[in-house]
Amino acid sequence: MDPARIRDWLCTTARLIDEEKDRLTDLDSAVGDGDHGVNMQRGFTAVAHSLREGGPDDMTAGQLLVLAGNTLVSTLGGASGPLFGSSFRALGKALDSPGTGADDHRLAAALAAARDSIQRLGAAQPGDKTLYDAYGPAADAFAREAEAGAGLAACARAAAAAAAEGARATEPMQARRGRASYLGLRSIGHQDPGAASTALVFRALATALEAK
Ligand code: ADP
Ligand code: MG
Repeated sequence: MDPARIRDWLCTTARLIDEEKDRLTDLDSAVGDGDHGVNMQRGFTAVAHSLREGGPDDMTAGQLLVLAGNTLVSTLGGASGPLFGSSFRALGKALDSPGTGADDHRLAAALAAARDSIQRLGAAQPGDKTLYDAYGPAADAFAREAEAGAGLAACARAAAAAAAEGARATEPMQARRGRASYLGLRSIGHQDPGAASTALVFRALATALEAK
């Protein structure tokens, strides 16, 4: 995987989070404590900064993702910080693990590892109204397209569409994990903020992997 594409992905995510910060905050005000937009902006601003300042220019794609994950763990905060952080660490470790195969297949396996790390850490199940409801379908869609030989850009487009749909699908759900679960039935009718952020992460991936 070309490290420049990973840099592009992370910086595009930071830009999209900047643009959508207020919407993320509004979503978290409805079902949580209203800090999610600020948390995500702080975390991804730090990632963009660490890419500029931290480490040599010859870092591999995997090393860049581990750096991003570590940065998110120490800066993002809230329940979502460790979850996003560990997902990027898992992605980086998987991409750096020895092995062969085309980029799309390697990234598909890495996204599956990232999805699993979120599940291990947060113990969310599908339908619990969390970021897992966007991440799971996105990782699955990416893998499906890779299996079909669609190519990197098409895989990422499918993943972005699945993440967006997964985020939308959280609206009628009742939260069973995280702060929103304290609301019980009143959590119904609002999109999950972490799922909305996950859709942005995958939209940024599609932008970065668009054939240039
Ligand atoms: P906090 O809830 O601590 O204020 P944030 O507002 O930054 O943290 O993040 C809230 C998001 O974290 C939720 O919208 C949800 O997507 C995600 N989340 C919370 N708990 C879990 C969990 N156990 N598993 C997966 N995602 C979770
Ligand atoms: Mg919050």
